[in-house]
Amino acid sequence: MQRQEQLDHLSRTPNAEHFHHKLAHPLYARDVSILQLNVGKRCTLSCKHCHVEAGPDRQEIMSKETFLACLEVQERHRIPTLDITGGSPELNPHLEWFLDRVAPLTQRLIVRSNLQLLAGEDYRHLIEFFAERGVELVVSLPAYTPERADKQRGPGDFENCVRVMRELNRRGYAETGSGLILNLVHNPVGAYLPGSQESLELEYRRRLESEWGVSFNSLFTLINCPVGRYLDFLIRSGNFEPYMDTLIRSFNPSAVENLMCRDTLSVAWDGGLYDCDFNQMLDLPLDGRAPSRISDFDLQALRHRRIAVGNHCFSCTAGAGSSCQGALETE
Ligand code: SF4
Ligand code: SF4
Repeated sequence: MQRQEQLDHLSRTPNAEHFHHKLAHPLYARDVSILQLNVGKRCTLSCKHCHVEAGPDRQEIMSKETFLACLEVQERHRIPTLDITGGSPELNPHLEWFLDRVAPLTQRLIVRSNLQLLAGEDYRHLIEFFAERGVELVVSLPAYTPERADKQRGPGDFENCVRVMRELNRRGYAETGSGLILNLVHNPVGAYLPGSQESLELEYRRRLESEWGVSFNSLFTLINCPVGRYLDFLIRSGNFEPYMDTLIRSFNPSAVENLMCRDTLSVAWDGGLYDCDFNQMLDLPLDGRAPSRISDFDLQALRHRRIAVGNHCFSCTAGAGSSCQGALETE
């Protein structure tokens, strides 16, 4: 669905509610402490909840020139956290080159993965590569049982993920004192909100450890954002209005303070800058006073920019709130 069509749909919310009416003040960033790089839309999967509309046929991949511009920013500013996402970041041919150079400059270096590639011969070496550079892994695992996980991602996927996680554990990931972090991500598969992050984490831990011998550090629950392929799914299945209604009725004003866009800046595969990965997919431009390209990075102008909001933002403020680091509030 084209960007304008998505925005038109998002403007038609139940009772004509609008996100900006819910805010006591316009939303401003307070810093840029996380730089999130979307290094391409190519992915091994085509999940129906994907806001990126990623898939095996997508051709958009971050070029070495854009990676170099990111590296220059990091050399100058040492942004504390670099968060690399996609698609499947492993499919970007410049990933290893970039991680090699950026790791010594970065306190917390995250790579997001669906684990599928790490299960195969061509990419298995990345486990050692990530561990040597202290890369934190955030991996999607839709469920803790093969039946439910395979329903979303295909037969055999769960067992492959478990195999990779065991290898990661053997290499020290999720081991106390190793400094190697393995976090899991859980997204609902349908048009509903996730359960409590604390309860799900307990259940994932109990089941994965006792039945599969797998350890992890934390579980992040994410609320699916009504953008991209997930918006398509909501409309096609007749769930758009009920889902938006749920998000709006679950609006939690205290989640606003810690919205991820207040500390994060998102870099697109082509070097464009956005408030977050969701705004990137909707092509919502940054505040006009801030630079719009990574090659023009200006920390002072970016760290106090006004954030562009829309009705998709209700997915970040529902219930306990949602961000790329999971719920914004804990029980
Ligand atoms: S949700 Fe993640 S794993 Fe699924 S298609 Fe999108 S980028 Fe790929
Ligand atoms: S979608 Fe969420 S992170 Fe993005 S601008 Fe809206 S509130 Fe901020």
